[in-house]
Amino acid sequence: MDKKQNAIPRIVIIGGGFAGVQVAKKLKNQPVEVLMLDKHNYHTFQPLLYQVATGALEGDSIGFPLRRLFTHQKNFTFHMAEVDRVDPAINTVITNLGDFTYDYLVIATGANTNYFGNKELERNTMPMKNIAEAQNLRSLILQNLEKALVTTDEMERNALLTFVVVGGGPTGVELSGALSELRQYILCKDYPGLCNADMKVYLVEGKTELLAAMSSPASVAAKKFLTEMEVTIFNGVHVASYDGHMLKIDDGTVIITRNVLWAAGVRGEIPGGIPPEVVAKGARIITDDINRVKGYQNVFAIGDVSAVTTEANPKGYPGVAQVALQQGKQLANNLMSIINGKPTMPFKYNDLGTMATIGRNKAVADLGKLRFQGFFAWLLWMFVHLLSLAGFSNKAIVFFNWAVGYFTRNSDNRLIVHHFDTKTMMTDPVAR
Ligand SMILES: Cc1cc2nc3c(=O)[nH]c(=O)nc-3n(C[C@H](O)[C@H](O)[C@H](O)COP(=O)(O)OP(=O)(O)OC[C@H]3O[C@@H](n4cnc5c(N)ncnc54)[C@H](O)[C@@H]3O)c2cc1C
Repeated sequence: MDKKQNAIPRIVIIGGGFAGVQVAKKLKNQPVEVLMLDKHNYHTFQPLLYQVATGALEGDSIGFPLRRLFTHQKNFTFHMAEVDRVDPAINTVITNLGDFTYDYLVIATGANTNYFGNKELERNTMPMKNIAEAQNLRSLILQNLEKALVTTDEMERNALLTFVVVGGGPTGVELSGALSELRQYILCKDYPGLCNADMKVYLVEGKTELLAAMSSPASVAAKKFLTEMEVTIFNGVHVASYDGHMLKIDDGTVIITRNVLWAAGVRGEIPGGIPPEVVAKGARIITDDINRVKGYQNVFAIGDVSAVTTEANPKGYPGVAQVALQQGKQLANNLMSIINGKPTMPFKYNDLGTMATIGRNKAVADLGKLRFQGFFAWLLWMFVHLLSLAGFSNKAIVFFNWAVGYFTRNSDNRLIVHHFDTKTMMTDPVAR
């Protein structure tokens, strides 16, 4: 067991995502020991995963080593460890690396893909929650284009060239837009033999509109943009089943496809040891307004894994980066107030707006009462995402890739480094 060495309080943070990193940064120079545990040794900028999946960016350019983020923070330690469970009765976190004790625990483990209990969909569709999954998706897309080029079975070729994105939130909209651009700009260049083939992109959304969390003008514009880009949209229907070949929608539609991309739901990634009575719908840990887990004095949850439920806000805040960042900052302040015996401040979300990009020169942005669609929204989207990326080199690489992509309508990131096996749903290195 790793016990703390110093007399000062030890704050253990599980998760180096947007929320966890903010807490740790804000605790710099404070008289506390900060220990971060993450199963990855890097921070992931999830909003750009779809660009990795569609070959616009390399995976490395949207991740940043956690140790490097904190090089100059003396009170900070990092361990790459997968947390199995927490044991609040003995203030201990149990990981694959051993046990770690804490005085205060911050759970910031984010969210994972939700298949709503459907094992068949879990087995056969592609999730995209981390860099490895985005790279798997890129491998599958490119492998299927390679196969489509050589197969003599016309039905199979159509299935390989049919892409179904499930979920019409920002991720699904961005993915289907990027696939449409792959068809428009890349297919003929890289695969001249498929130039006249009919690559299809479908988007299936259960709600009656796309981007349901955004304003109506944004939803309408997103649908218009995607329709112009020849994405076939199904609204108000649900995917009933997919066996790896045949996808059935609950309105009776059947689509034969080898590519189903699942962007239809998230659930909190809760470590073991958290009692079910403090878990809300969507597997989110229920906290009070200072992000303290109900029933505990020294255990806190922030970001996507948490639901700050109050009378005014019974469902909790949306699972977006701004909520995670703001909760991280506020929790660091509140932890220092608790340690110093001072009053705490309740968390209040300051909604800075929502954006989604659909394709070249096409995005939608809701910034309070201001609503933009089209080129200006797209510029704004790029600017905000570039500024938010961790590290100067990542910003420079992404900017360079975007500039090259914009002027050449091409990119150099379409490598199949790992072969994706649809039988095992795992990757193997292509060349050994
Ligand atoms: C594809 C995609 C696109 C998105 N686009 C946008 C967008 O455009 N705008 C926006 O605002 N938000 C977007 N989001 C949501 C946004 O990324 C999340 O709200 C945000 O990442 C939440 O931050 P977090 O710190 O709570 O969790 P995360 O950033 O998910 O970080 C959680 C961390 O915990 C670690 N972890 C998890 N379980 C364990 C464990 N058992 N042991 C150790 N470590 C663990 C993970 O490795 C990870 O590093 C998007 C999300 C996805 C998936």
